[in-house]
Amino acid sequence: MKDTAKHQGLRNQLVKQLQEKGIKDKNVLDAIGKIPRHLFLNSSFEDYAYQDKAFPIDAGQTISQPYTVGFQTELLEVKKGNKILEIGTGSGYQTAVLCTLGAVVYTIERQNELFKKTSLLLPKLGIRPKHISFGDGYKGLPNYAPFDGIIVTAGAPEIPKALMSQLKIGGKLVIPVGDEVQVMTLIIRKGETEFVKHEFGDFRFVPLLENKN
Ligand code: SAH
Repeated sequence: MKDTAKHQGLRNQLVKQLQEKGIKDKNVLDAIGKIPRHLFLNSSFEDYAYQDKAFPIDAGQTISQPYTVGFQTELLEVKKGNKILEIGTGSGYQTAVLCTLGAVVYTIERQNELFKKTSLLLPKLGIRPKHISFGDGYKGLPNYAPFDGIIVTAGAPEIPKALMSQLKIGGKLVIPVGDEVQVMTLIIRKGETEFVKHEFGDFRFVPLLENKN
Protein backbone atom coordinates (compact mmCIF):
# COMPACT_ATOMS: atom_id res chain seq x y z
CA MET A 1 0.00 0.00 0.00
CA LYS A 2 1.69 3.11 -1.24
CA ASP A 3 1.12 6.77 -0.56
CA THR A 4 3.21 8.94 -2.86
CA ALA A 5 3.98 12.63 -3.41
CA LYS A 6 1.54 12.52 -6.31
CA HIS A 7 -1.24 11.37 -3.98
CA GLN A 8 -0.31 14.14 -1.54
CA GLY A 9 -0.52 16.69 -4.36
CA LEU A 10 -4.00 15.47 -5.32
CA ARG A 11 -5.06 15.60 -1.66
CA ASN A 12 -3.91 19.21 -1.37
CA GLN A 13 -6.06 20.08 -4.39
CA LEU A 14 -9.04 18.26 -2.86
CA VAL A 15 -8.64 20.23 0.38
CA LYS A 16 -8.61 23.46 -1.62
CA GLN A 17 -11.85 22.46 -3.38
CA LEU A 18 -13.53 21.64 -0.08
CA GLN A 19 -12.49 25.05 1.27
CA GLU A 20 -14.02 26.71 -1.80
CA LYS A 21 -17.23 24.73 -1.22
CA GLY A 22 -17.43 26.13 2.33
CA ILE A 23 -15.68 23.70 4.69
CA LYS A 24 -13.86 25.95 7.18
CA ASP A 25 -12.74 23.86 10.14
CA LYS A 26 -8.94 23.74 9.88
CA ASN A 27 -8.61 20.49 11.83
CA VAL A 28 -11.12 18.77 9.53
CA LEU A 29 -9.34 20.05 6.41
CA ASP A 30 -5.97 18.96 7.83
CA ALA A 31 -7.31 15.47 8.53
CA ILE A 32 -8.65 15.14 4.96
CA GLY A 33 -5.27 16.41 3.74
CA LYS A 34 -3.50 13.61 5.59
CA ILE A 35 -5.66 10.53 5.02
CA PRO A 36 -4.78 8.37 1.96
CA ARG A 37 -8.34 8.03 0.59
CA HIS A 38 -7.08 5.93 -2.36
CA LEU A 39 -6.26 3.12 0.09
CA PHE A 40 -9.93 2.95 1.20
CA LEU A 41 -11.13 2.22 -2.35
CA ASN A 42 -10.83 -0.86 -4.54
CA SER A 43 -7.80 -0.42 -6.78
CA SER A 44 -9.90 0.13 -9.93
CA PHE A 45 -10.98 3.48 -8.46
CA GLU A 46 -7.56 4.52 -7.22
CA ASP A 47 -7.06 7.12 -9.95
CA TYR A 48 -10.30 8.88 -8.99
CA ALA A 49 -9.88 8.77 -5.23
CA TYR A 50 -9.21 12.49 -4.87
CA GLN A 51 -12.22 13.63 -6.85
CA ASP A 52 -14.90 15.07 -4.62
CA LYS A 53 -17.26 12.18 -5.30
CA ALA A 54 -18.80 9.13 -3.64
CA PHE A 55 -17.65 5.78 -5.06
CA PRO A 56 -18.93 2.22 -4.78
CA ILE A 57 -17.30 -0.03 -2.15
CA ASP A 58 -18.18 -3.67 -1.39
CA ALA A 59 -21.67 -4.99 -0.51
CA GLY A 60 -23.42 -2.38 -2.70
CA GLN A 61 -22.42 0.46 -0.37
CA THR A 62 -20.52 3.72 -0.99
CA ILE A 63 -17.66 5.70 0.47
CA SER A 64 -19.12 9.14 1.21
CA GLN A 65 -18.16 12.17 -0.86
CA PRO A 66 -15.30 14.10 0.83
CA TYR A 67 -17.46 17.27 0.98
CA THR A 68 -20.11 15.31 2.88
CA VAL A 69 -17.49 13.88 5.25
CA GLY A 70 -16.18 17.43 5.82
CA PHE A 71 -19.68 18.84 6.33
CA GLN A 72 -20.81 16.18 8.81
CA THR A 73 -17.54 16.23 10.75
CA GLU A 74 -17.61 20.03 10.99
CA LEU A 75 -21.13 19.90 12.46
CA LEU A 76 -19.97 17.41 15.07
CA GLU A 77 -17.30 19.86 16.39
CA VAL A 78 -15.01 17.07 17.56
CA LYS A 79 -12.54 17.89 20.32
CA LYS A 80 -9.54 15.73 21.25
CA GLY A 81 -10.62 12.92 23.54
CA ASN A 82 -14.33 13.19 22.66
CA LYS A 83 -16.14 9.90 22.66
CA ILE A 84 -17.78 9.52 19.25
CA LEU A 85 -20.09 6.82 17.87
CA GLU A 86 -20.24 6.30 14.11
CA ILE A 87 -23.09 4.34 12.50
CA GLY A 88 -22.01 2.85 9.15
CA THR A 89 -18.27 2.08 9.20
CA GLY A 90 -18.28 1.23 5.48
CA SER A 91 -14.80 1.79 4.02
CA GLY A 92 -13.54 3.27 7.30
CA TYR A 93 -12.69 6.63 5.73
CA GLN A 94 -14.96 8.67 8.02
CA THR A 95 -13.67 6.60 10.95
CA ALA A 96 -10.13 7.60 9.96
CA VAL A 97 -11.09 11.29 9.90
CA LEU A 98 -12.56 11.04 13.41
CA CYS A 99 -9.50 9.16 14.76
CA THR A 100 -7.15 11.72 13.17
CA LEU A 101 -9.04 14.47 15.03
CA GLY A 102 -8.15 12.71 18.28
CA ALA A 103 -11.60 11.29 19.00
CA VAL A 104 -12.10 8.02 20.85
CA VAL A 105 -14.14 6.27 18.15
CA TYR A 106 -16.75 3.51 18.37
CA THR A 107 -18.11 2.42 15.01
CA ILE A 108 -20.79 -0.06 13.85
CA GLU A 109 -21.31 -1.78 10.48
CA ARG A 110 -24.12 -4.19 9.55
CA GLN A 111 -22.51 -5.67 6.40
CA ASN A 112 -20.20 -8.48 7.53
CA GLU A 113 -18.01 -8.22 4.43
CA LEU A 114 -17.26 -4.54 5.10
CA PHE A 115 -16.91 -5.08 8.85
CA LYS A 116 -14.20 -7.71 8.25
CA LYS A 117 -12.37 -5.85 5.50
CA THR A 118 -12.28 -2.51 7.32
CA SER A 119 -11.33 -4.10 10.66
CA LEU A 120 -8.19 -5.40 8.91
CA LEU A 121 -7.45 -2.25 6.90
CA LEU A 122 -7.52 0.40 9.62
CA PRO A 123 -4.72 -1.00 11.85
CA LYS A 124 -2.55 -1.46 8.74
CA LEU A 125 -2.86 2.28 8.20
CA GLY A 126 -2.10 3.01 11.86
CA ILE A 127 -5.69 4.05 12.57
CA ARG A 128 -7.08 2.68 15.83
CA PRO A 129 -10.72 3.18 16.70
CA LYS A 130 -11.50 2.11 20.26
CA HIS A 131 -14.12 -0.39 19.10
CA ILE A 132 -15.38 -1.72 15.74
CA SER A 133 -18.68 -3.50 16.09
CA PHE A 134 -20.69 -5.76 13.76
CA GLY A 135 -24.39 -5.19 14.17
CA ASP A 136 -27.37 -2.89 13.85
CA GLY A 137 -26.53 0.77 14.40
CA TYR A 138 -30.22 1.62 14.88
CA LYS A 139 -29.75 0.45 18.44
CA GLY A 140 -26.51 2.35 18.99
CA LEU A 141 -24.08 0.89 21.54
CA PRO A 142 -25.88 1.17 24.91
CA ASN A 143 -23.02 -0.58 26.75
CA TYR A 144 -20.58 2.18 25.79
CA ALA A 145 -22.97 5.17 26.04
CA PRO A 146 -23.16 8.10 26.63
CA PHE A 147 -21.32 9.77 23.73
CA ASP A 148 -20.18 13.35 23.08
CA GLY A 149 -21.19 12.88 19.46
CA ILE A 150 -22.95 10.42 17.18
CA ILE A 151 -22.58 10.51 13.40
CA VAL A 152 -24.80 8.49 11.10
CA THR A 153 -23.35 7.95 7.61
CA ALA A 154 -26.43 6.36 5.99
CA GLY A 155 -29.81 7.94 5.21
CA ALA A 156 -32.27 7.39 8.06
CA PRO A 157 -36.02 7.32 7.34
CA GLU A 158 -36.48 8.65 10.88
CA ILE A 159 -34.25 9.53 13.85
CA PRO A 160 -33.65 6.41 15.97
CA LYS A 161 -34.73 7.16 19.57
CA ALA A 162 -31.97 4.89 20.90
CA LEU A 163 -29.34 7.23 19.43
CA MET A 164 -30.87 10.32 21.05
CA SER A 165 -30.89 8.58 24.42
CA GLN A 166 -27.18 7.70 24.11
CA LEU A 167 -26.05 11.35 23.87
CA LYS A 168 -24.46 13.15 26.81
CA ILE A 169 -26.13 16.39 27.83
CA GLY A 170 -24.59 18.87 25.38
CA GLY A 171 -23.87 16.02 22.95
CA LYS A 172 -24.55 16.23 19.21
CA LEU A 173 -26.17 13.81 16.77
CA VAL A 174 -25.47 14.43 13.06
CA ILE A 175 -27.83 12.42 10.89
CA PRO A 176 -29.14 12.64 7.31
CA VAL A 177 -32.93 12.17 7.54
CA GLY A 178 -35.22 11.21 4.66
CA ASP A 179 -36.06 8.53 2.12
CA GLU A 180 -35.04 9.49 -1.46
CA VAL A 181 -33.19 12.65 -0.43
CA GLN A 182 -31.99 13.38 3.08
CA VAL A 183 -31.87 16.62 5.05
CA MET A 184 -28.67 16.90 7.07
CA THR A 185 -29.91 17.23 10.63
CA LEU A 186 -28.09 18.24 13.82
CA ILE A 187 -29.72 17.37 17.15
CA ILE A 188 -28.22 18.83 20.32
CA ARG A 189 -29.21 17.38 23.68
CA LYS A 190 -29.88 20.29 26.02
CA GLY A 191 -31.24 18.34 28.96
CA GLU A 192 -32.53 14.97 30.06
CA THR A 193 -35.62 15.29 27.82
CA GLU A 194 -34.79 18.47 25.91
CA PHE A 195 -33.39 18.39 22.37
CA VAL A 196 -32.99 21.11 19.74
CA LYS A 197 -32.90 20.46 16.01
CA HIS A 198 -31.14 22.32 13.19
CA GLU A 199 -31.43 21.44 9.49
CA PHE A 200 -28.83 21.98 6.76
CA GLY A 201 -29.70 21.26 3.12
CA ASP A 202 -30.09 18.12 1.07
CA PHE A 203 -27.70 15.19 0.69
CA ARG A 204 -27.95 11.68 -0.75
CA PHE A 205 -26.87 8.56 1.13
CA VAL A 206 -27.34 4.81 0.88
CA PRO A 207 -30.15 3.82 3.28
CA LEU A 208 -29.77 3.08 6.97
CA LEU A 209 -31.28 -0.42 7.21
CA GLU A 210 -32.87 -1.78 10.33
CA ASN A 211 -32.42 -5.44 11.31
CA LYS A 212 -35.95 -6.67 11.90
CA ASN A 213 -35.43 -9.40 14.46
N1 SAH B 1 -18.71 6.07 6.68
C1 SAH B 1 -18.68 5.25 5.47
C2 SAH B 1 -19.97 5.41 4.68
C3 SAH B 1 -20.41 4.09 4.16
S1 SAH B 1 -22.05 4.09 3.45
C4 SAH B 1 -17.48 5.57 4.62
O1 SAH B 1 -16.91 6.65 4.77
O2 SAH B 1 -17.10 4.73 3.80
C5 SAH B 1 -23.06 3.73 4.85
C6 SAH B 1 -22.76 2.45 5.57
O3 SAH B 1 -23.78 2.28 6.57
C7 SAH B 1 -22.79 1.18 4.72
O4 SAH B 1 -21.57 0.51 4.85
C8 SAH B 1 -23.96 0.39 5.29
O5 SAH B 1 -23.77 -1.02 5.25
C9 SAH B 1 -24.02 0.89 6.71
N2 SAH B 1 -25.30 0.72 7.39
C10 SAH B 1 -26.56 0.85 6.89
N3 SAH B 1 -27.48 0.59 7.84
C11 SAH B 1 -26.79 0.30 8.98
C12 SAH B 1 -27.17 -0.05 10.32
N4 SAH B 1 -28.46 -0.15 10.68
N5 SAH B 1 -26.20 -0.28 11.22
C13 SAH B 1 -24.89 -0.19 10.88
N6 SAH B 1 -24.46 0.14 9.64
C14 SAH B 1 -25.40 0.39 8.70
